[in-house]
Amino acid sequence: MELACLDLEGVLIPEIWIAFAERTGIDELRATTRDIPDYDVLMKQRLGLLDQHNLKIDDIQDVIASLEPLPGAIDFIDWLRERFQVIILSDTFYEFSQPLMRQLGWPTLFCHRLLTDESGRVVDYKLRQKDPKRESVKALHSLNYRVLAAGDSYNDTTMLTEADVGFLIHAPQNVIQEFPQFRAVDTLDELKGAFVEASDRDLSL
Ligand SMILES: [Mg+2]
Repeated sequence: MELACLDLEGVLIPEIWIAFAERTGIDELRATTRDIPDYDVLMKQRLGLLDQHNLKIDDIQDVIASLEPLPGAIDFIDWLRERFQVIILSDTFYEFSQPLMRQLGWPTLFCHRLLTDESGRVVDYKLRQKDPKRESVKALHSLNYRVLAAGDSYNDTTMLTEADVGFLIHAPQNVIQEFPQFRAVDTLDELKGAFVEASDRDLSL
């Protein structure tokens, strides 16, 4: 039995915080773990900025709903789901990704949660577990699935290592160079071919 695990941001949809920063004009929201390596500090800053600009969860989702999946992503996910059970493993938040997941037809998503109060203010966040992408692949292995995986960045590399076959897609050059053990592809069409080759089934039917 085979499963495909995909990262979300940078693979199927734009980087949400960056796109959100552009859409709202709140430049400080562009900061990522490259600028502030401590994720907790980064998230606290992001939540503070949402408060400062009086952005409630509904406002946030309205803005994100105006974003679109990357070109070809909807077709790709439809193609993949006809051939594999597909699980998206992401470090995003359900409440944040919802408008884009709707456009992708609600594939299964394992990620984190934002906590809101009655007024819709985002008060905190809850990470599902430590190293969630690797732990998810491990758990799927315990269910006797062979796992093919693809992602674009550092936070995917433990998932790709744990998977039976891992691919980089849309990855920056430094990630490609640091992780030469993973085949790197540039487009979702190339990724289709890579999945077909890596599958232990005949997918040409
Ligand atoms: Mg990504």
